[in-house]
Amino acid sequence: MNQIDWKNLPFGYFKTDYNVRCYYHDGQWGELEISSSELISMHMAATCLHYGQEAFEGLKAFRGKDGKIRIFRMDENWKRMNNSARGIMMAEVPWELFHKAVLTVVKLNEKYIPPYGEGASLYIRPLLIGTGPQVGVKPAEEYMFLVFAGPVGPYFKEGFNPVKMEIVRDYHRAAPKGTGHIKVGGNYAASLVPAHRAHQDGYASVLFLDAAEEKYIDEAGPANFFGIKGNTYVTPSSRSILPSITNKSLQELAKEIGMKVEVRPVPVEELAEFDEVGACGTAAVISPICSIIDRDTTHGYHYCKESKAGEISTRLYKKLRAIQEGEEPDKYGWITIVE
Ligand SMILES: *Cc1c(COP(=O)(O)O)cnc(C)c1O
Repeated sequence: MNQIDWKNLPFGYFKTDYNVRCYYHDGQWGELEISSSELISMHMAATCLHYGQEAFEGLKAFRGKDGKIRIFRMDENWKRMNNSARGIMMAEVPWELFHKAVLTVVKLNEKYIPPYGEGASLYIRPLLIGTGPQVGVKPAEEYMFLVFAGPVGPYFKEGFNPVKMEIVRDYHRAAPKGTGHIKVGGNYAASLVPAHRAHQDGYASVLFLDAAEEKYIDEAGPANFFGIKGNTYVTPSSRSILPSITNKSLQELAKEIGMKVEVRPVPVEELAEFDEVGACGTAAVISPICSIIDRDTTHGYHYCKESKAGEISTRLYKKLRAIQEGEEPDKYGWITIVE
């Protein structure tokens, strides 16, 4: 393999040597299989292709300063994947299977784990799909669980540099009582058009509002939203938001450094009151937001001084990264060390 340019890795697909797969039929999961093919073969009437029986996860493995490989909060990803499975009537994946699949794929692709200090990591993508055929709208009787992994750089090419976002009202990501709270492909399909338009207009992503009233902030594209007001970390609560594991972790760290945490509806006008705002998720940890422009009113909210991230966002970001890379003790039990 050619030398990988770790410093300039995009956040994207990267071919590695192996992935792992497991098949569910006759009401049970089979044995985990190792594959070196990037392709899957399935029935043309598979429910994932027609009726969106598809859920995925995203988590990361890091190479620490001490050379050890650490996986961040994989039990949370497992719980959330099964929550997604229940939400669209798919077979759930037992912990032992999930755990073994993730550890196996990380170990088999060890040479693709970026070295410490490059700002890169190994992104792990579990996927659960309905593979059994149906033509009537029904859940499949057969499923496939697959995990692949590959090295990635920061999610937004800006890295930890602040980005611009736009508030949109002509598109909603998820219905108020729909599937916004689970990690299923359909939500992403609904976000492609406004996200593409935002990119063309020079924004990193869009801010979606709650679909019922368009009064409250829902999500920052494929990430959760948070704002810092004085000594308080504020993040929206809504049934159509995907519960981000990064957000949950940042809330914990904010408390640790003596901040208050508020999880509640966040009205759009409150954007004027925050000192710092950001998007958070596994891919970027935190993407600090420099400005938010309302597409309808053209009103702008601005947060950056000298186009730098705010002090508290920076502190939280560094603290979380330090836990992930083993520089701070894992006092919450978030880390799985790969032996
Ligand atoms: C995955 C995802 C997030 C981030 O969740 P993390 O667990 O922090 O990676 C946020 N919003 C949406 C819509 C997502 O799909």
